[in-house]
Amino acid sequence: MGGTAVVAGGGIGGLAVALGLRRVGWDVSVVERAPVLADVGAGISLHANGLRALDVLGVGQAVRAAARPQYTGGTRTPDGGWLSRMDGAALERELGTPIVGIPRADLHRLLRAALPAECLVVGAEVTTVDRTEPGRVRIPLDDGVLDADLLVAADGVNSRLRTQLFPAHPGPAYSGSTVLRAITEHPVDALSTDFAVTWGPGAEFGHVVFADGRAEWHAVLNSAAGVRHDDPLAAMRRRFRDWHDPIPRLLDATRPDAVLHHDIRELVTPLPSFAVGRIALLGDAAHAMTPNLGQGACQALEDAAVLAAALAAEPTVESALTRYDTQRRPRSQSVARAARQAGRMGQQLTHSMAIALRNTALRLAPSGVTVRAILRHADWKPPRLS
Ligand code: FAD
Repeated sequence: MGGTAVVAGGGIGGLAVALGLRRVGWDVSVVERAPVLADVGAGISLHANGLRALDVLGVGQAVRAAARPQYTGGTRTPDGGWLSRMDGAALERELGTPIVGIPRADLHRLLRAALPAECLVVGAEVTTVDRTEPGRVRIPLDDGVLDADLLVAADGVNSRLRTQLFPAHPGPAYSGSTVLRAITEHPVDALSTDFAVTWGPGAEFGHVVFADGRAEWHAVLNSAAGVRHDDPLAAMRRRFRDWHDPIPRLLDATRPDAVLHHDIRELVTPLPSFAVGRIALLGDAAHAMTPNLGQGACQALEDAAVLAAALAAEPTVESALTRYDTQRRPRSQSVARAARQAGRMGQQLTHSMAIALRNTALRLAPSGVTVRAILRHADWKPPRLS
């Protein structure tokens, strides 16, 4: 079955699904409200499941070539002690790849480069969909109407289409954590690991090194929503000045205007369906989750591969979307629950007794536990796309 599709949103999920749909013979328009198509975030880690989805979407090799494998790293305490170590080589033996790290802008650029420029429409917002004509969806834009067989809502955590389709759903909720992040201005010397995450009471500092030696860092803090700093970099220097090397050095290697600050919002109330008639919800629009497992974009990439495969296999759009919902909703919602739980047991803990218990359990855990925990979500088999 081929047809015409409109994808609302040109983030990682929207571009990925456009690639998948084109691979199975669909004609696709991606409508992005930003005037320039780009991803302004810092860095992203991709697990084997995300990379496997990228493989079937046709860009896995290009992304692997631009990314840096994360062989060494783990979880630490602010004084530099290790709670657990992650063995990237063991992960590679199990899954064929360790986790990889890549600047988000590079991932976005590689996805964009695999799509013909004419299927990307920028500076246009999708705010509503008209479903009154049987067998079609009509998408009004400022300067006309797009008519299609399928609409994919990939418009992110604050999806307007989700609100229209599920008016009784409460929408995203603040997770209780805020995140500041940036990419260093230049390569940082003598980093002893490819990545690390450090947990203190109500705070996490993490970093991932890229192929060119620069690193992304993120600081996740328990906070009231909406709190902002006049000078976010100076605030992070104060907050983390006593934490172990290389944390102060990563902050020193950052330009003040490079720091991004967002409150983390997630869909705590799961959606009852990822499909409504001829409309599929995908990525954060469907299952926005906290970043604690590094799985949000990986799940969006899985969505993209599965939706394309379902449309190739099923006789009608409706049956394909039912198949997509059945395959994607339980898995992505369970990963979202696990991510929330990981945040509660990790950076969000503040009680000293609870932190001591957690740290002791992590230190005593047999080697291989971290790898097995990652396998639980990363060991996913992609569908075949013809
Ligand atoms: P988005 O990236 O939000 O894209 C939505 C797009 O739709 C945007 O371009 C937006 O401008 C556009 N849009 C919105 N409304 C409209 C409209 N009405 N009309 C047209 N266009 C519209 N995931 C990982 O897998 N690994 C990680 O390491 C990782 N780290 C993270 C770290 C942090 C701090 C955070 C917050 C998230 C992290 N994630 C990670 C999650 C990941 O960033 C998201 O899950 C992923 O970017 C979602 O992609 P998306 O395309 O669904 O949504």
